[in-house]
Amino acid sequence: MRFDVVVVGAGTAGLVAGSILAKAGRRVALVERHRYLGGRAMEHRFRGHQLGLGSHLAEDPGDSLTRVCEHVGVSLVHSERSDSMPFWENGGWRPIQERYAGAGKAGVKRCIEALLETDWHDLERWDHASLREWMAQYTSDEGAFLVWEAISVLEQITNHWWEHSASENLFARKLAYTHRRTAGYSFWPMGGWEKLWGEMGDAFTGLGGELRHPAAVERIVVEDGRIAGVRLRGGEVLEADQAIVSAPVWDLPRLFDDGVLPWDLLQRIRLLANNRNRACWLGYWIAAREPVVAMTEREMASFFSTPRTGLPGFTLNFTGYDPGVSPPGEYLTCVGAAFDATEHYGDRAWIDRQFHNLWLDIEEMLPAARGALWKKPHLVTSYGVICRPGLVGAVRPDARVREVDGLWLTGDTTRARGIGVDKAARAGITAAEGVLGQRVPFFADTVRY
Ligand SMILES: Cc1cc2nc3c(=O)[nH]c(=O)nc-3n(C[C@H](O)[C@H](O)[C@H](O)COP(=O)(O)OP(=O)(O)OC[C@H]3O[C@@H](n4cnc5c(N)ncnc54)[C@H](O)[C@@H]3O)c2cc1C
Repeated sequence: MRFDVVVVGAGTAGLVAGSILAKAGRRVALVERHRYLGGRAMEHRFRGHQLGLGSHLAEDPGDSLTRVCEHVGVSLVHSERSDSMPFWENGGWRPIQERYAGAGKAGVKRCIEALLETDWHDLERWDHASLREWMAQYTSDEGAFLVWEAISVLEQITNHWWEHSASENLFARKLAYTHRRTAGYSFWPMGGWEKLWGEMGDAFTGLGGELRHPAAVERIVVEDGRIAGVRLRGGEVLEADQAIVSAPVWDLPRLFDDGVLPWDLLQRIRLLANNRNRACWLGYWIAAREPVVAMTEREMASFFSTPRTGLPGFTLNFTGYDPGVSPPGEYLTCVGAAFDATEHYGDRAWIDRQFHNLWLDIEEMLPAARGALWKKPHLVTSYGVICRPGLVGAVRPDARVREVDGLWLTGDTTRARGIGVDKAARAGITAAEGVLGQRVPFFADTVRY
């Protein structure tokens, strides 16, 4: 069967790229190996609650996924925003704003002014530096560092100050200030992720796209240095001159015959895919008859260190954002902490100990959790590639693989900027515009790399 473009993977980036191309009149096949759409941002039902298999909140202030939904006619309703930002310190919760009053506030203001004056592309000069190193040009106040670094833990799942990438965090701050005049913007898609991805799949097919799932791509077929199509498991070949591959870096190499990808690109992909460079997370889903919160029901509560695990993380009461995620009279909270893959990836005994300690910490920090109806632990080792200095920006694969005619890479592990789903959607737009050879007018004022 012959198509103009085959898109591999129907996670955020693949759905976005496929829909834009279908809307532009291209004959597109979108191939997903799983039964469900949405990839790492899928969710599932557990005892009547909607639990994110991947994504929790989205950080798109209107520049990526939201814009794509408008473009292809999918309704994406943002939940109300968080109404407080409690921070755990010295055995209690306090509004984080208290930590940067006075000198800290002036320091944050100088940082915001400098950031708004900085051109988007100049942020690339900071790919090898930490957020604190950039901020130190404008402030030395610990409270000022704390507030942006706490956001860094929430958004990028980075652990230590030297791991919070300057360029990635500044990109997200600049985007939120530019579009929403606020430091951070996040929302829950009302109705949930399963609904959204289902509607995007329908929009894609409604625009004439062909969705194949479950169907796994076994090989990207390259002949004489150009894309010839993709071969599915079972042998069927979908012929096309262009292929967009949204598989994350840890799944990419096996899709190609030896020698197809340029040597240096393959080495960078392997570096990024190394287990030591994964953003890792351990946490609990908690259902209770009362909200398990620090201060308010729609808060964004974070900590740099729980009493026993010593790990940084956050807690979110999803029912506060969208009561529909839980059965009537029940509340759903997720509490979790980021951990350092370099030291602890695969260390089962350490991870078991941390799960045990984290639950004791939760009972101390969020006493309502003691009356939980149930708690469900989850361990995440494929959140994404950690946004650490030196692992962001130009070290990541570009959308276009110049050495193979018609080959495009997309997704949150490529060079796109942003956060999780937002980053993946931005990468999907970039790949689609690459295939079309021009910017789509509807996205002309969005930020691209
Ligand atoms: C537990 C967890 C929590 C998260 N929380 C958040 C959050 O709160 N906010 C946020 O913004 N982000 C969050 N993220 C990150 C976010 O989910 C990802 O950044 C985003 O979903 C990545 O989208 P993608 O399209 O780049 O990749 P993916 O979602 O990984 O999509 C790639 C797709 O390709 C498919 N595929 C791969 N190989 C093949 C093949 N050979 N054939 C066919 N199909 C193939 C995969 O099945 C998958 O569907 C979280 C991630 C995890 C794991």
